[in-house]
Amino acid sequence: MKEIEVLSIGELLIDFTPVGASANGKPIYEQNPGGAPANVAAALAKWGRATSMIARVGNDFFGEDLITTLENHYVDCSLISTDGDIPTTLAFVKLNAEGNRSFSFYRKPGADLMLRKEDIDKAYIKRCKILHFGSVSLTGGTSREATWHAVEQGIENSKIISFDPNIRELLWKDQDEMKEQIKKGLSKAHLVKMSDEELYFVTGEKELEKAAKLITDAYAIQLLIVTLGAEGSYYLFEEKTGFIQGYRVRATDTTGAGDVFWASVLHQLLEKISLLELQEKDIRNILQTANAVGALTTLKKGAIPSIPTLDEIEQFLHQ
Ligand code: ADP
Repeated sequence: MKEIEVLSIGELLIDFTPVGASANGKPIYEQNPGGAPANVAAALAKWGRATSMIARVGNDFFGEDLITTLENHYVDCSLISTDGDIPTTLAFVKLNAEGNRSFSFYRKPGADLMLRKEDIDKAYIKRCKILHFGSVSLTGGTSREATWHAVEQGIENSKIISFDPNIRELLWKDQDEMKEQIKKGLSKAHLVKMSDEELYFVTGEKELEKAAKLITDAYAIQLLIVTLGAEGSYYLFEEKTGFIQGYRVRATDTTGAGDVFWASVLHQLLEKISLLELQEKDIRNILQTANAVGALTTLKKGAIPSIPTLDEIEQFLHQ
């Protein structure tokens, strides 16, 4: 059976990104495929990694469109369920002047949160190298139980667990519950990507270095990466820490930058035979490239449509 390099689990939905305004000032939206784990999967598959997605979409036009998009990026979609009468989730993106975004969701709940334990195929988990998940599928519905089931299966089968909390506060009714679920995710993962805001939310510590240390002291995380928007990124790896400066670009839409950045980190880690051979200099090189990938992703609207090709990344790094 063919090996899967990354198995990504979680939300797959439609983002409506504003692209301008009509004559009467109403926003005009462009429809883009989205969902953080889906963005990670699409990027990895675009760069040639064997990638599968476990998700649920509605049996509707949007669901069909999402599957077609992922398939066009060579993501294996055989574990994406479409049965059931709950429609595909729609997310409306608002962008501020700096290209930073906030979201409103149309789901009560949508199909993405209806992922079920039965949708998790153990054989697929056994075949993967890295199992990646986020926190939206932990917000509620049946997807919470399904996601934890997949993560447990991954741990039992000695897989590398990757976690991006990617907090969407709007989705959580209860902040304590959100913190508890994120902490549970941190306790299960080997590789973690957090933003500086998420680090503060979980630890209550404003100083980045202290907050990162609190996280790695509390949980057995092998590699913690903190994204800092245009500033770049920060790592904590085997007690060693450092900042890697971001690239200066004219950002138009940061949607998906964090996901594609993280996909780049996973892509480069997959070059290594084992995480045990990783050294600090490797992490610094990995983040240099991932910062470039994140910066390139901000140049176009949407997440999946703005994933750079490997050639574009090479060119940007050597310009
Ligand atoms: P997250 O979704 O985790 O908050 P960020 O928005 O911080 O992700 O973006 C991830 C990475 O993409 C950053 O660490 C940085 O390397 C790059 N990036 C994001 N925004 C910009 C920007 N405006 N200019 C240059 N690089 C950026």
